[in-house]
Amino acid sequence: MNNSVLIVGLGASGLMAALTAAKNGAKVTIIEKNDIPGKKILATGNGKCNLANLDFRLDCYYSDCEDLNLFFKQFDVQDTIETFEELGLIIKNVNGYLYPVTNQATSVRDVLFNRLNQYDINVMFSKVPQSITKENNGFNVVIDNNKHYFDKVILACGSYAGIRKCDRVDSSIDGYSLAYHLGHSIIPVKPALTQIVCNENFFKDIAGVRIDAIVKLVLDNSYIAEEYGELQITDYGLSGIPIFQMSRIVAADNKRKYSIEIDFMPGVSEEEFAQICESRIIRFQGTTVSDFFTGLINTKLAELIVKLSKLDKNQIIDETLTDQLISALALIKCFNVTVKNTKSFENAQCCSGGVPVSEIDMTCMSQVCPNLFLCGEMLNVDAKCGGYNLQWAWTTGYIAGKSAAGVMK
Ligand SMILES: Cc1cc2nc3c(=O)[nH]c(=O)nc-3n(C[C@H](O)[C@H](O)[C@H](O)COP(=O)(O)OP(=O)(O)OC[C@H]3O[C@@H](n4cnc5c(N)ncnc54)[C@H](O)[C@@H]3O)c2cc1C
Repeated sequence: MNNSVLIVGLGASGLMAALTAAKNGAKVTIIEKNDIPGKKILATGNGKCNLANLDFRLDCYYSDCEDLNLFFKQFDVQDTIETFEELGLIIKNVNGYLYPVTNQATSVRDVLFNRLNQYDINVMFSKVPQSITKENNGFNVVIDNNKHYFDKVILACGSYAGIRKCDRVDSSIDGYSLAYHLGHSIIPVKPALTQIVCNENFFKDIAGVRIDAIVKLVLDNSYIAEEYGELQITDYGLSGIPIFQMSRIVAADNKRKYSIEIDFMPGVSEEEFAQICESRIIRFQGTTVSDFFTGLINTKLAELIVKLSKLDKNQIIDETLTDQLISALALIKCFNVTVKNTKSFENAQCCSGGVPVSEIDMTCMSQVCPNLFLCGEMLNVDAKCGGYNLQWAWTTGYIAGKSAAGVMK
């Protein structure tokens, strides 16, 4: 008789797992909470889906696993490209960031689901398993109060990221809970890749500013992270990729007093900046403070800096203002804000925490519950922006599907 495999969750990793298991001869059943497959894939990359990255680096990943390469060497970026191309997806390369040429995340989801439908599979949408319990070598799974038996189960339930609280699976039967009841431990799950809320009241005055900047996360007078990229200023604080990348540190322990130091002129060295300031102070004597900042920095930021420096934009510049102007200019290269918290799971693109990778083997099989497989973001792996999180989902989905089908080991 066919090896029966239940896949719980039809997101990125579940689609890859289901297709791989079906291709390799398993009798596949899928249960998905939503009424459509891969709902989160549709939101990725602002609807364009950054599905992988040619600049693959292990240091883009955070995990309890010392060598994630054990997984990536079984299915890497090149395998992702070949798999999707074979499914009919044309991929475009934007500076190493890979997207479907259609610019539509639906294409990524659809090529997977269309091919999956060519196999004899059973998909149940808008359902969650009420319980999964071990029975001999396999599992009893209760769905709609009926008991079903499967030889293998793959948990591909993802994380809380990007999902409204009211849309989450009841925490007593969500993916983490299913894994926990089958013997796994759960590392506390926190939002990662999300916005940072700050304490200062002035954010509403500068909301909407987008500017290339260096941002440094500061704790106890030490820099603990540094990122460069487009900073987006909002009415509650800071957003944009450089902020997303450091948010996991704040979310891990949001009781600590972090601050963020911003350099609004990252392309200009301290020496060059000192020269600009010196010549500007001489050249703008007799003009207004407003004229002095015009063309130097974004208008909204200039107005804020003028206000914080207790200057008046209509004041005429003379030598008595030199010290105040020097202090105001210093804020352009070193602007400090204090951190209140991160935004919640709903706003996050991924989560840290989950099932420890140390509790699965390199075939993605549970080390505590034989014939249970885990893949994707419900494992304790999160990555930087740039296609790395989906790569983890494709990689582990492929391995789990293949192993559950009995092809590996
Ligand atoms: C806004 C946004 C943008 C993103 N952009 C990118 C990007 O451009 N590039 C990138 O690499 N990553 C991106 N990510 C991250 C990426 O989407 C995830 O890392 C990836 O989808 C994880 O795959 P997964 O299969 O583990 O989880 P998911 O894709 O979330 O799939 C899990 C599935 O399981 C279902 N499910 C959960 N619990 C149950 C249950 N108990 N029973 C049945 N079904 C269940 C869910 O409904 C869901 O369909 C983004 C995330 C968000 C939120």
